[in-house]
Amino acid sequence: MNWISNYVRPKINSLFSRREVPENLWTKCPECGTMLFHRELAANLNVCTSCDHHMAISPRDRFIGLFDVGVFVEVKVPEPVVDPLHFRDQKKYPDRLKAAQKVTGEREAMLVAEGEVGRTPIIAVAQDFSFMAGSMGMYVGNAIIAAAQRAVATKRPLVMFSAAGGARMQEGILSLMQMPRTTVAVQMLKEAGLPYVVVLTHPTTGGVTASYAMLGDVQIAEPNALICFAGPRVIEQTIREKLPEGFQRAEYLLDHGMLDRVTHRKALREELVTILRMLMNQSPAVKGDLPPPGDILESAEVKA
Ligand SMILES: [Zn+2]
Repeated sequence: MNWISNYVRPKINSLFSRREVPENLWTKCPECGTMLFHRELAANLNVCTSCDHHMAISPRDRFIGLFDVGVFVEVKVPEPVVDPLHFRDQKKYPDRLKAAQKVTGEREAMLVAEGEVGRTPIIAVAQDFSFMAGSMGMYVGNAIIAAAQRAVATKRPLVMFSAAGGARMQEGILSLMQMPRTTVAVQMLKEAGLPYVVVLTHPTTGGVTASYAMLGDVQIAEPNALICFAGPRVIEQTIREKLPEGFQRAEYLLDHGMLDRVTHRKALREELVTILRMLMNQSPAVKGDLPPPGDILESAEVKA
C-alpha cells in the first residue's frame, strides 16, 4: 500500500461516484426517449408526461396513489413451503427469491391491502412484475385466497391489479395448481355476492390470464397493455404468419370484445370508485373532498 492507493484512488472514486447521483434522478421513457425527472414521474403515477406511456408501478406505489390519503393496511398472507422441489437452473430457486427480495424490498410478487378508495371500503391485490416477472407461485395463490377470504369476511369488493409472465416454473405443478385454487377463491366472492374487478396491466400473460385475471365482473385494462396466453412471438413462429398491428394489446382486445374498458391510469381511481359503488349499491361518491393521489405520492416521497 502506498499513498496513491490509500489516498488518491479513494478521492478519484468519490469524485466519480458523486457524478452518478444526479443520473439516478432521471428516468428515460422507453417509448419516446424523453428524460423524466423522477419526482415528476412519481407524481404522474409513472406515466410519461410527454407521450402518456404507462411504465411499471410497484404495488406499494400504486396503493399509495389509490387509497384515500395513501393509507392502507396490509393483509397477512400465509407463508407457503419454500422450494419444495429443490429446483435449480443456473441458480438455486431460494437464491433467486433472495435476489428478487433485495431488488424490490418486498416479500413476494403480490401485495394485499385493505382500505378505502373514495370512502368506499375495498380489498385490493397487486402483482409485482419486477419480482421474478410477477410469476404465479404458491405465495401468489395464498395471497389471492387471503384477499378473497378477507373480502368475504368484511363484505368488501375485491380489486385485482394483474401483471405476470405466467406460472413460476421453479414450483412446477404446484404453481399450475394455483389456477384452480384462485378460481375457487374468485367463486367464493361471487357466491357472497361481492364484486370482483380486474385491472390488467402490462404485461399479463400465461397461466395468470388463464385463471383469475380473466374472471372479473368488470375487466379493465391500462392503455397498450399486452394481455395474452401465448405471446405474439410464439404465435408468429407457430403459424408462420405476420400478426395484425396492435395484436393482443389492450385496445385491440377491447375492439374484439375481450375487455370492458381501457382506462388511463390517472382516471382509474375515479372509475373504480364509480363502478364499485354502483355494484355495491352505494350512493355516488362525494367528489372534491380529498386531495388527488398525485399530491399524496409526492408528499409521501418527500417524507421518505
Ligand atoms: Zn414517453
